[in-house]
Amino acid sequence: MHVFKEISSLKVYLLGQRELGKTIGLVPTMGALHEGHSSLLKASVTENDLTVCSIFINPVQFNNQEDLENYPRTISEDLIFLKTLECDIVFIPSEEEMYPKPIKTNFNFGELETRMEGSSRPGHFNGVGLVVSKLFNIVSPTRAYFGQKDIQQIKIIEQLCSDLSFDIQLKSIDTIREADGLAMSSRNKRLSADARKKAPLINQVLAEIESGLKRGEAFIDLKTEKTSILAKNEISLEYLELVSEEDLSFVQVQNKGEKVVLCIAAVLEGIRLIDNRIF
Ligand code: AMP
Repeated sequence: MHVFKEISSLKVYLLGQRELGKTIGLVPTMGALHEGHSSLLKASVTENDLTVCSIFINPVQFNNQEDLENYPRTISEDLIFLKTLECDIVFIPSEEEMYPKPIKTNFNFGELETRMEGSSRPGHFNGVGLVVSKLFNIVSPTRAYFGQKDIQQIKIIEQLCSDLSFDIQLKSIDTIREADGLAMSSRNKRLSADARKKAPLINQVLAEIESGLKRGEAFIDLKTEKTSILAKNEISLEYLELVSEEDLSFVQVQNKGEKVVLCIAAVLEGIRLIDNRIF
């Protein structure tokens, strides 16, 4: 497994590989790797000649300094994990390497960033747009892998690829969960034992709302009921929304033949977790 810290040496290496006709899969991450990441990595290793995993905690996509400072950093364990997955290349740039000059470019993804993660975390998707564009330009992958847990991020990157003519196949991978249904996340590592016991309620609530909707109950009533159940368990809601799967616009009901997504962001002991359920 090759480890690169500099953009220039990674570019030279990958240029040589592309000239040999090798296909390249890119898995962008912020490290503290878990089984969710490994599902993306396994898909890439299967579908490409070479897999590049980037590990970069992108400061530009954090709107909360404390969240950035507390983000788990486990680089030695991550490297061992990547080796066992037969990842070929790890790219671990420093902040100075990625952003040597003050950034002037600004993305505006319109409607998509006015709701949910966009409104809860102002500037977040601008940061995602920047770092993903840079990684796409540095790696020039054949395919890039993203998790459905961050469904709004996937839509943003689809828009980015279309607007900027990135000729990259985007692959969206199902959410990997713990045995009790909690979506795997690097942030789960920060939960206390008590919070960890309560956290699966986030996914449970989504499953119960889906059942309620299928019985014909109104989303607004289900949302009120579940918000209070979460609050009783010291889980506060940032948002809980029903959206169309196509463009993530808000809906109140599921029309026949239409796919919808329940999206949630909740906070336990100051730790922010997101999840969603597509049906
Ligand atoms: P992160 O390191 O949290 O920025 O995540 C890197 C990539 O892994 C993103 O595309 C995430 O959507 C994806 N990912 C994170 N958690 C999971 C999970 N539980 N299942 C599947 N993909 C995930």
